[in-house]
Amino acid sequence: MAEIGTDIEKARAYLEAGQLVAIPTETVYGLAANALNPGAVAQIFAVKQRPHFDPLIVHTDRLEKAMQWIAAIPAPLQQLAEAFMPGPLTLVVPKKDIIPDIVTAGLPTVGLRIPSHPLTRRLLASLNFPVAAPSANPFGYVSPTNARHVEAQLGEHIPYILDGGSSQIGLESTIVAWNEETQKPIVLRLGGIPLEEIEKVAGKVMLQTHSSSNPKAPGMLSAHYAPRKKVFLSLEAALRIYSPQELGAIVFKEPLAVLPVANQLLLSPQGNYTEAAQRLFAALREIEELPVKAVVAPLLPEEHLGRAINDRLRRAAASA
Ligand code: AMP
Ligand code: MG
Repeated sequence: MAEIGTDIEKARAYLEAGQLVAIPTETVYGLAANALNPGAVAQIFAVKQRPHFDPLIVHTDRLEKAMQWIAAIPAPLQQLAEAFMPGPLTLVVPKKDIIPDIVTAGLPTVGLRIPSHPLTRRLLASLNFPVAAPSANPFGYVSPTNARHVEAQLGEHIPYILDGGSSQIGLESTIVAWNEETQKPIVLRLGGIPLEEIEKVAGKVMLQTHSSSNPKAPGMLSAHYAPRKKVFLSLEAALRIYSPQELGAIVFKEPLAVLPVANQLLLSPQGNYTEAAQRLFAALREIEELPVKAVVAPLLPEEHLGRAINDRLRRAAASA
């Protein structure tokens, strides 16, 4: 069992000693280790059962501090940094040698994020190293958005969970890299900052979020975010196999008329994308407690955070 608390000093002591600590962020909870200590980082891969070819994102509290560990940032990415950091944005930038290969899966670039969660910012400000932190869940499973989610799945393997309440954004960061050939930003993962907002700052960007052919980034593979119950995007397809009583639903604003209301989780009765994103991962966990055999999760409109929510729903539906 991990200890759960709000003691930044304790979290710092564990990290300095090369141990793992789960940390709250505005996107999801992270499983953190000293990114400059390869032995500490190796424990992240072991505890998550994450393949070593999947690179980690490093976190710190200020861009100026990050310049110790990363090389120059291309100007358009610098503009994104100014607009959205701290916040749910990860920039993939050239790394300095001090970042060990285990963090980046041998790539010459590193994912950099500056979270806005106040407790974690204070923790990061107290450290003289960045922390590597993927989501604090077993590989391929739904990301945690509160301390209890982390305790339930990884509590046995880590000494401390820093409790910062429920994650405000609820979706992982939007990942933006730099494409050398086109000299343009490229979005590698849809996330907490809507594509429309990215494009207002950086202009038209390329999207490369589904690359089932690229074994280097399994976070981008179709079958990810797997809950244990089968998820259908289409009600018709689900009704071909199950009766209405056997089905639950995760819906945006309104319950589906043909299914029992008690078995349906509403993401945002007001139709608010931000609220829907906040609730999504908790809902994907709650469906496991519902007395149903499978779940229908119709896609949201393909705009704003609806895009990133749909990305996670498609992946949940693609697994088993
Ligand atoms: P997670 O830590 O689970 O949120 O996943 C982090 C994801 O960030 C990885 O699966 C990659 O898709 C992406 N990523 C991290 N570092 C890099 C990098 N240097 N180049 C490309 N993608 C990266
Ligand atoms: Mg993850």
